[in-house]
Amino acid sequence: MLRTGQQYRDSIRDGRRVWMNGERVHDVTTHPQFKPLIDIRARIYDMAHEGATRDIMSYEENGDRFSVGLKLPYTEDDWHAKRRATDAVLEDVGGIVTRVGDETAGEMWSLYDGQDILNEVDPRFSDNICAHIHKVIQNDPFHVSANTDPKGDRSKRPQDQDPDMLLRVVKETDAGIVVRGAKYETAAAYANQAFTKPTIANWGDSALSEYAVGFICDFSSPNLRFICRTGFAGRAPAEDYPLSSRFDEIEALVIYDDVLIPWENVLFYQHTKAAGFIRNTLHRYSAFAFVQRNLKLADLMIGAALWNVRQTGLEKQQAVQEKLATLACYREGINAHLTAAIANAETSPGGLLMPNQSLLMTGRVHACSQLHHMMHLARELCGGQICVTPDAAAFADPDTADWLKKFYTLNDNWGSDDRRKLLAFARDLLNSDYAGHRLTFQLFAQAPPFAHLGAVYRNFDFDDALRFTKKSAGLSDNVLG
Ligand SMILES: Cc1cc2nc3c(=O)[nH]c(=O)nc-3n(C[C@H](O)[C@H](O)[C@H](O)COP(=O)(O)OP(=O)(O)OC[C@H]3O[C@@H](n4cnc5c(N)ncnc54)[C@H](O)[C@@H]3O)c2cc1C
Repeated sequence: MLRTGQQYRDSIRDGRRVWMNGERVHDVTTHPQFKPLIDIRARIYDMAHEGATRDIMSYEENGDRFSVGLKLPYTEDDWHAKRRATDAVLEDVGGIVTRVGDETAGEMWSLYDGQDILNEVDPRFSDNICAHIHKVIQNDPFHVSANTDPKGDRSKRPQDQDPDMLLRVVKETDAGIVVRGAKYETAAAYANQAFTKPTIANWGDSALSEYAVGFICDFSSPNLRFICRTGFAGRAPAEDYPLSSRFDEIEALVIYDDVLIPWENVLFYQHTKAAGFIRNTLHRYSAFAFVQRNLKLADLMIGAALWNVRQTGLEKQQAVQEKLATLACYREGINAHLTAAIANAETSPGGLLMPNQSLLMTGRVHACSQLHHMMHLARELCGGQICVTPDAAAFADPDTADWLKKFYTLNDNWGSDDRRKLLAFARDLLNSDYAGHRLTFQLFAQAPPFAHLGAVYRNFDFDDALRFTKKSAGLSDNVLG
């Protein structure tokens, strides 16, 4: 059942308790800082129904239509379809939005792959993950990701400080478990549910822990609170900050104040082995959609830099061309990893088709670890005018308009209005508060950089390098490995 944008909006008008900037938000769908992203999420739902995009965004099975992003992947074509659908969304909305569902649903498929482990440690729960994956396909909810606790002082055990610094189970009842704690979750205040699981943790020798818990949290549950940072939209005119005003994905600290999780929503509980498994495999699928966003971000950086040097007549300079070529190498590096990850896809332990893990995880490191260099290069190419240009209001003010028209008109093709728009766009892409936020998002939102490298270490096949080096160096057969 594909939802419409209106059904999605209605679903989040459920009396949830949301705060922003010291105020209670009674209806997120109309709040000026949430509305732009909610409108985009609603648009994504509507795209699955509209003639022009319906076959890109959805597929038919037994007479019903379902979302391409939520489909379990079995073939390379499934991955090409997912890639096409994500691109269609970003093209349609004209910017980058990441945590809109396609990127997060895949986290559950990793647990689906771990059913043997779930069965081994506690067979009560493996049916639940299958049921939830199919429920997401059937009901088309907006599903997000919850991993990161406030954590507290990591030199101490959680039990030796406020024990709620990591989310934990405080009670078991016939109806389910009761959890207490908090998680940072992008988009939670306007989503329907999250796959909630432990953050990266050192479980030591403990086989069981009240902190080793994974579940689907329904955001309409009572006893949840969403305390959000202030959004970027509306802080300054949209003409001056065209990205901040439309594409800010708002994080919430979601407070779980003794929230009852019904047994059918519990995916694992107490067993640190299950928690360790999901941490190690969490982004097996979802990294694809995450990395794909970096590619579109690279396109915007290349576009902003190139339009600028075209406007200013600097494109013919060899040094400028080399910088553009460096940006192109970054972009094509991401493209190559994504393309090759599909072409060399692997069958997962659960029988799904997962992108080639070594290529995907190295692609994620390439995309995220170089992003700040690339932003700096694009910033350099755009020049200092991106941070000194007056605002749109000054271009319209009769007292100043003529001066700005004179000094911002470059030639017959480039009038002052287009020059102003490009500089405002580049500022918001590279220099603004939103730009810094987006950089931090790409750095951290899908785990921190050390965890990205950990995933490479676990997935790269070191054996062939060892074998070839052993042969080339003439090492004896006594060496191990
Ligand atoms: C914009 C944004 C959006 C986010 N959205 C979500 C979301 O939707 N859902 C969600 O669950 N989380 C989300 N996060 C949280 C994100 O996953 C965490 O910020 C990230 O996992 C790092 O955790 P931390 O911030 O607690 O930093 P810390 O754990 O305090 O780590 C800070 C740094 O300490 C070092 N460090 C810490 N531990 C180790 C270690 N074991 N080994 C080596 N070095 C270490 C690393 O340099 C690390 O980068 C988001 C974060 C941001 C910034």
